[in-house]
Amino acid sequence: LAADALRHLALDERAKAHIEQDQVLRPLFERMAARYIGGATLPECLERITAVNAQGHAATVDYMGENTRDAAKAHAETEEFLRLVQALQGRQFNSSVSLDLSHIGLIIEPEICHYNAGRIAAAAREIGTEMIVSMEWSARTDLILAAYERLCSEHSNVGITCQARLHRTPADLDRLLTLPGKIRLVKGAYQETADVAYPRGSDELRATFLGLACRLIASGHPCSIATHDPDLLDELETFITAGGWRAQPYEFEMLTGLGNLEGLRQRGHPTREYVVYGREWFLYLCNRLAEEPERLFTAVADALGA
Ligand code: FAD
Repeated sequence: LAADALRHLALDERAKAHIEQDQVLRPLFERMAARYIGGATLPECLERITAVNAQGHAATVDYMGENTRDAAKAHAETEEFLRLVQALQGRQFNSSVSLDLSHIGLIIEPEICHYNAGRIAAAAREIGTEMIVSMEWSARTDLILAAYERLCSEHSNVGITCQARLHRTPADLDRLLTLPGKIRLVKGAYQETADVAYPRGSDELRATFLGLACRLIASGHPCSIATHDPDLLDELETFITAGGWRAQPYEFEMLTGLGNLEGLRQRGHPTREYVVYGREWFLYLCNRLAEEPERLFTAVADALGA
């Protein structure tokens, strides 16, 4: 119930506007979000990346946003990504860039998206880093994969995210493994129907994630295993040790404020923290809380400063 309520809240523009304008609610929600985001502004985010790198983890940074419906806004958001890449170069951070293609024009016109994504990928390549494309809901998978394949034909530093939940993903992986880009495996965060995806929290989803992760690690293809699920992580560590896969180009990746990346680093695995920043934190916060409604208790404690 709590998860459903949070998902509805996330999509409710009136509730969002109310909270953003309310003198009491806004600071409370901002304190809840602080655990999960790298800041509202680029300078704040750079501080977070400095701390993440100092802890021995690589980072990837996403300037939050999706579903941009106006071309001028898509170009303006692209400029912020370019400022981000420039800032990464200035201070020699160990960080890549991650983004939703719908943030920079995908649902306006694929050509706009290709132009904007190409500029960010080229800037990232100049500073020797990657641009990883996030995966959105299943109705967009084909569009995103087509955009990714086109970007790959022009840029060698672009990677993609795959959702283990989707029944189509094993077949998509066959195709993606023929391209050079890094593949990030996640469970999948969007509301999907049973004909396209395994239910959240199901045994089938865990088994599929495990199988795909093992396949990626053993393939020798650059990959990122992105989960906070402690049981899955235990099984994957056992798989890596038993199979002698330590030298493969894999890494474990987690979102800011979730999971135990430090334990993995201490046991010698490459680790990366996914840091988001920006002012679109409301939807992001609701999604993190909806995934695990028990996080509401922590959120309330954060809000009250307890
Ligand atoms: P969950 O299913 O959330 O948790 C599994 C189990 O672990 C649960 O039993 C839970 O109680 C337990 N658990 C969770 N956290 C903790 C903890 N901190 N301590 C102890 N136990 C815990 N989704 C997309 O759809 N598209 C994307 O492009 C995308 N990019 C992502 C990038 C990264 C780096 C990451 C980490 C996630 C991304 N996601 C993306 C989100 C992803 O799809 C999942 O929604 C999210 O990661 C939650 O799934 P999970 O695998 O972490 O495990």
